[in-house]
Amino acid sequence: MAELVIRVSGQDAALIDRVYGRGGASAAARRPNRLVVDAHVAAAHPEIAATARRAGVPFLVDPLTHYLQDVQHPADPWARLSFADGRAHTPSDLASNRRQERLVEECLSFQIEHGATTLIVPYVHIEKADDGWVDIQRRLLAHTCRFLDRNNVHIPVMAVFALGWRLLDRMAWPSVLNPLLEASALLGPAPVALAAAKVDQGVHPERRLADLLATVGQIRPRHPVTAWNQGALGEACVAGGATGYEVGIGWRERCDLRSASAAHRQPPSGGGGARPVYVASVRRSVPKPSLRVLMTDRVLLPHLICPDLACCTSGPAALLGDPRAHTIVARARNLAELDAADTLAWKWHLLAQISERGLRVAERVNIASRHQEVVNSIDTAALLATHAVATVKRRNAAERAA
Ligand SMILES: [Zn+2]
Repeated sequence: MAELVIRVSGQDAALIDRVYGRGGASAAARRPNRLVVDAHVAAAHPEIAATARRAGVPFLVDPLTHYLQDVQHPADPWARLSFADGRAHTPSDLASNRRQERLVEECLSFQIEHGATTLIVPYVHIEKADDGWVDIQRRLLAHTCRFLDRNNVHIPVMAVFALGWRLLDRMAWPSVLNPLLEASALLGPAPVALAAAKVDQGVHPERRLADLLATVGQIRPRHPVTAWNQGALGEACVAGGATGYEVGIGWRERCDLRSASAAHRQPPSGGGGARPVYVASVRRSVPKPSLRVLMTDRVLLPHLICPDLACCTSGPAALLGDPRAHTIVARARNLAELDAADTLAWKWHLLAQISERGLRVAERVNIASRHQEVVNSIDTAALLATHAVATVKRRNAAERAA
C-alpha cells in the first residue's frame, strides 16, 4: 500500500488528534500512514508524538540539518535546539570526526527523546558533485551506523538524500548517488527519503521529473524510497516506484531546500496566514480567498469541490469550513486510487488523464487571475511535467505488457 506521510505543524496538533478519532471524535475517513514534524515542532508540541503513539502511527522527527548550511536567526526555534547552530557551515566545518560524532549523537538523541519511531540520519543539501558535501553526507551515514551499534539502539533508521535537481541526471550518479548508496548499505535496507529540490521548475520540468523517476528507480532495488516534500509530484513518484510521498497540510508542498533554510535567516514571524485548501483536480492547495471567488464560476465549481461524501459531507461548505481535514483525506484517497490501479500502464494512464484535466482547470483559473486580483494563478509546471512523463510511460508500459 502506498504511504501518505503528513508533515504536521504546531497548529495541527488538535487536528491530528481529531483525524485519528481521539477524544471521542470519529476518526477521519482516511488517515496518514506516517506523521513527521520539524524538530523544533517536536520540541514545542510533545502532544503530537503522544497522538501518534496512541494511534499506533509511525512518527518521525525531521532534524532539518541542512539548515546548518545557512545562517539562522538566533531567535529562530530551530537554531535554539541542542544539535543546531545558527552559523552557516562549510563542508570543512563539519569535516572532523569529532564534529560529525557530536552532530550524530545530539541529533539522534534528540529524535529519540522526542518520540521518533524511525530515526532520520543527519543530512545535508547537496547541489554540486564536487563541493565537499557528498563526502560529509557519506561520513554522516557511517557515523550514524557506528552510533547505533555502540549504543545498542534498535530503532529503525531512514536516510535522506537531499539533492539539487541537476544531480538527478544519471551522468552525476557516479559521483553523488552511487557513493551515497554505498554508504547507506551499512544501514541495511533502510528506507531513503529522496528530497529532490526544484524539480517542478525550469524550462523543462518534464526532463527533471524523468530524472527524478530514474533516480527513484536506481535507489529502489536497495531501499524503499519516499518522495520527500513532493506534494505536487508525489503521485508520479509513486507510479515510478516510490513507496509513498511526504507533504504538509495545505502548505510545504514543494521541495525547495535552499529557500526553506534561507527562510530562517529572519526572526520568527509567527502565524503563516490562512491555510490553503487542497484542490484535487489541480493536485495542489489553493489560497482560501482565491478559492471562494473561483467557486462562483459555474464552469469551475464542479472541478473545485470535493466529490467525496465520506470526506466533505456538506459539500462546498465543508471544503472551506474544515479544509485541513479535507486536505489529508483527499490526498489519501487520491493516493489509494492510484495504488489500486493494478497495472503500471493503468497507473500512468490515470495520471495522464488527471494532469490533463488539471491543466484545463488551471488554465481557466489563470485566466481569472488576470482579471481578479484576489485570484492567485496556479503554477502549471508540475502538471505539465506529470502529463508529459505519464503519456510516455503509459505508452512504454502498454507496449511492454503487449
Ligand atoms: Zn473533502
